Amino acid sequence: MSSQRGLTLIKDMDDKMIDDLKKKIKGKVLLQENLGRHTTFRIGGPADLWVEPHDPKELKKALLFAKENKTPFVVVGGGSNLLVSDSGIKGMVIHLGSPHFKDMSAKGGTVTAGAGSSIASLVRFCCNEGLTGMESLVGIPGTLGGALYMNAGGSSNPIFKNIGEFVSSVKVMDHSGNIRTIKRDRIEFGYRKSNLSSCIILQVVFKLEKGDKEVLNSSCSKFLTMKRQKQALDVPSAGCVFKNPEGFQFTCGQMIDMLGLKGKKVGGAEISEKHGNFIVNRKGATAEDVKGLIDFVKSKVKENYNIDLELEIKVM
Ligand SMILES: Cc1cc2nc3c(=O)[nH]c(=O)nc-3n(C[C@H](O)[C@H](O)[C@H](O)COP(=O)(O)OP(=O)(O)OC[C@H]3O[C@@H](n4cnc5c(N)ncnc54)[C@H](O)[C@@H]3O)c2cc1C
Repeated sequence: MSSQRGLTLIKDMDDKMIDDLKKKIKGKVLLQENLGRHTTFRIGGPADLWVEPHDPKELKKALLFAKENKTPFVVVGGGSNLLVSDSGIKGMVIHLGSPHFKDMSAKGGTVTAGAGSSIASLVRFCCNEGLTGMESLVGIPGTLGGALYMNAGGSSNPIFKNIGEFVSSVKVMDHSGNIRTIKRDRIEFGYRKSNLSSCIILQVVFKLEKGDKEVLNSSCSKFLTMKRQKQALDVPSAGCVFKNPEGFQFTCGQMIDMLGLKGKKVGGAEISEKHGNFIVNRKGATAEDVKGLIDFVKSKVKENYNIDLELEIKVM
């Protein structure tokens, strides 16, 4: 049995080990699952092992399997902030896609939602419950788990909120399968980041204010229109590629626009004509094409503004 840096890769496992895992898990267990199907970029090679546990008990079994077999694992939500390598992901990819992780309920001003819920359904649910706060998040693809991990939301304009602002507590599982609840005062949310990276987010409790259903739904439509006007939503992408440099007068989109880089192509990847901070998969782009464009933008911005751009998207 061979391994990389002491870690066991799935190709090294025998069929019996995989069969044992399949017996333990009622949810999906797939070998060599194409990750291009699970990322909004539509890019990515296969995952050695794709696991969709049915519930937290099965999630724990999957984590213990990974631990016992020294198999690396990652969590993928809606894949809307990811650039997955053309060679895929070695090890196990966990996805909270079963209905158990998509449960939502409301009581008074409190909303409890599973990490596998889509942001679209969460925003709709809150508005229909007459609870305000989430409207500006409408149109953000992906799941609640990914949104919380990233503290997804809007940018400079204060009418756009970040999801962390409404969190009251988060239920998480650590890598040994232990579940605990983290209260808001122990969670740090920053610009497209949180301190929730060492665990798997299972469920989130939000505290929201009362609002008028009709006003909230109409507010969502306005936010969606603004998003459609600014962003390239009809072509595969992972949203904004770079973080805006803090305290600088220009956003990444503005710098890229001023440098005349919109429309620049590497293979099938292209800097969006609509939003300079979006790279779109125009035609069969590979992860290497996207990385080529990223390096090109970084070098131009460094050369002209002396700024080292930081990635917002996660490269796996
Ligand atoms: C067209 C488009 C528009 C976008 N607009 C916005 C926007 O306006 N604002 C914004 O902030 N973002 C935006 N994004 C980026 C993206 O949608 C968000 O970052 C989203 O919240 C990511 O959620 P996801 O479920 O897809 O996470 P993924 O991309 O699957 O994962 C992102 C990170 O979260 C981790 N993760 C996922 N689920 C869990 C979990 N349950 N527990 C622990 N970690 C987890 C992953 O390991 C990974 O590190 C946009 C993307 C696209 C394609």
